[in-house]
Amino acid sequence: MRTAAFGPPATRSEPQGLKSPIFLSASTRPSKGRSSTYTARVDSEIKTGTVLREISTHSAEETIAFGRTLTELLSPPKLVLLRGDLGAGKTTLVKGIAAAFDAASEEDVTSPTFTLIHEYRGPRANLFHIDLYRIDTPRELDTLALDDLRGDNSILLIEWGEKFPRLVRERDVEIALEREGENGRRIRVSA
Ligand code: ADP
Ligand code: MG
Repeated sequence: MRTAAFGPPATRSEPQGLKSPIFLSASTRPSKGRSSTYTARVDSEIKTGTVLREISTHSAEETIAFGRTLTELLSPPKLVLLRGDLGAGKTTLVKGIAAAFDAASEEDVTSPTFTLIHEYRGPRANLFHIDLYRIDTPRELDTLALDDLRGDNSILLIEWGEKFPRLVRERDVEIALEREGENGRRIRVSA
């Protein structure tokens, strides 16, 4: 795993990752807090697509196992939006996806909430796990230069990407997770 912004140095020695590492300076680092106008925009930007897979899981392990079944659907190149409230299981699902692509072990996949981008390189795909929770404006989004990460071999797995209409338009696959009680999650994959 390679941390592309903010985070501690990568702990595993792997091929050098990004051609142009991404850094946000402290001054451009966004502050928390989202305006209510965003919510309105998010609602209007929901793109309806064909549901390809749908499942209810009852534990984190089941969600990880479901993530492991998605390699064919997510074969690169893909831009994937992961939707769902905090704690819905987006990062948990990425554990299964990254493991199935032999790009990282489940334990190595952690939330990029503060680091913004984690990169996991595998033999069949390079996964970029991106968390835009703390990114509030299109200008801040541009600073991350996500387009530079896109390529024949890459899969972008983006949490909170639905805040940005451009990403909603460009996404190939959307995975929505909804709570069903304490440990239940409804997961819908659509394209
Ligand atoms: P998100 O990235 O959407 O904020 P996380 O994956 O980081 O969510 O956290 C999900 C939390 O919910 C974890 O603590 C996980 O153990 C717990 N959990 C309980 N049941 C499930 C389930 N069925 N699927 C996924 N996570 C679950
Ligand atoms: Mg997360």
